Amino acid sequence: MTNGAIFPIDKLLYQDRRFTPSRRDLLIGVGATTALSLSPAAANSVSDEYLIQGATVLTMVPGAAILVDHDVHVRNRRIVAIGKNIIAPAATRLDARGSIVMPGLVDTHWHLWTTLLRNLADNSDANGYFAMTGRLGRRFGPKEMRLAAMLAAADALDHGITTVHDWCHNIRSPAHARGALAGLRDSGLRARFSYGATRQTPFDQPLAAADFARLHAGWGEWSDGGRLSLGIGWRGVMATMDDRAVAVPDAVWRADLKLARDRGLPVSVHANNSAANSGHVRRLDELRLLGRDMQIVHAVNAEADEIAALARSGASVSLAPSSELTVGFGVPPVAALRRAGIVIGASIDTPALVGAADLLRELRIIQGLANALAADEMAMTPLDALAIGTREGAASLGLDGVAGSLAPGKCADLIVVRRDALSLLPHADPATMILRSLRPADIRVVMVDGTILKQDGLLTKIDRAALTADVLETSARLARDAG
Ligand SMILES: [Zn+2]
Repeated sequence: MTNGAIFPIDKLLYQDRRFTPSRRDLLIGVGATTALSLSPAAANSVSDEYLIQGATVLTMVPGAAILVDHDVHVRNRRIVAIGKNIIAPAATRLDARGSIVMPGLVDTHWHLWTTLLRNLADNSDANGYFAMTGRLGRRFGPKEMRLAAMLAAADALDHGITTVHDWCHNIRSPAHARGALAGLRDSGLRARFSYGATRQTPFDQPLAAADFARLHAGWGEWSDGGRLSLGIGWRGVMATMDDRAVAVPDAVWRADLKLARDRGLPVSVHANNSAANSGHVRRLDELRLLGRDMQIVHAVNAEADEIAALARSGASVSLAPSSELTVGFGVPPVAALRRAGIVIGASIDTPALVGAADLLRELRIIQGLANALAADEMAMTPLDALAIGTREGAASLGLDGVAGSLAPGKCADLIVVRRDALSLLPHADPATMILRSLRPADIRVVMVDGTILKQDGLLTKIDRAALTADVLETSARLARDAG
């Protein structure tokens, strides 16, 4: 089979190997005619083998060249080959000529439940982030946790995010955790679920160990073959309360940390985010608790010795510049973290403060800060910034063997990006184009674990109309209940 001009360029998917398009073959045609305006359910094309043909492929493998006119072959949830003129007779074929294929974006820290409180933190005394989310979070039940996860997943997929890290700190009962997990499982996204205490949990009260042990023991119910993974959202050894640092009792932080480390699970902890929490990384280092299995969230005011300790230990850092700037934490030390060789991920953190799940916005700010703080236009290239949003982000979650780059053996988490939008013209270096100009409407296909979850504007698994109605009704009720 060749990649010859058979179908118009605006027809992305075709399946009939004799090139006779049937109605089903045109499911993800861009600018579909009325006859092809399908419901999300009808557009849910399910196959376990795809051949994405004729694309420009940005693999995000370190040092790899950009591949022109290449095919990506996906089978049984994995990438099996990337090359020219791949023969795969049984595969459903996607015509990606004129498009860019790259790994899906990787979010590394997101309190998914706060997505249901999007834009409600308005920088006023009454509705500052901590006051508002504290007040409304108490009103959440398991249903709200699930709905928030679905809304977050829908927005993530729309923006080309294929992995999220749900840092779940509103687990008010075992059912709250299961609610959030049900949303993630049903959404099709790849996710790390970090089990954390609520923000109102007293610091002398450990995590619900028995519930966590049950969840871990029965993880097969949630994992979907590894798509969902489990970790601990740890409070660390120094917590912040009312703008002052509080020492978490030894027995509590040890018990919580043991839940993860006894099971070989990853740990994520907010540290050095505000003035009150400065010195947290230093304390973790003194206690010899840092390690490759630990992700530090924010690290905004980490000092030189703390950055050196992070580098020595192999711990990663998750940055969320939009929320860090907006909530007044400060300016993340991107240049110093980079100089030290620390693995960095980018994060949405909370739509209550930052709005849309636009990870490219975070990457643009990270690049801007890296260059501004180094007073050097060349300090961070667009490709470096995109690596933080893909390969490095996956590494910061310990998922670099699975996601974050395109190579045979990796899970098929990828996006197909059109290049004909006005904001993408004229064509430039693909990484630069994507970082600066890509919008959700330009993302033609989002595939997670070998399943297409977005095709030409339609979410295939999530019923957008039902989700919208549910979100509006639930958010109105939350506001009413909270007075
Ligand atoms: Zn956070």
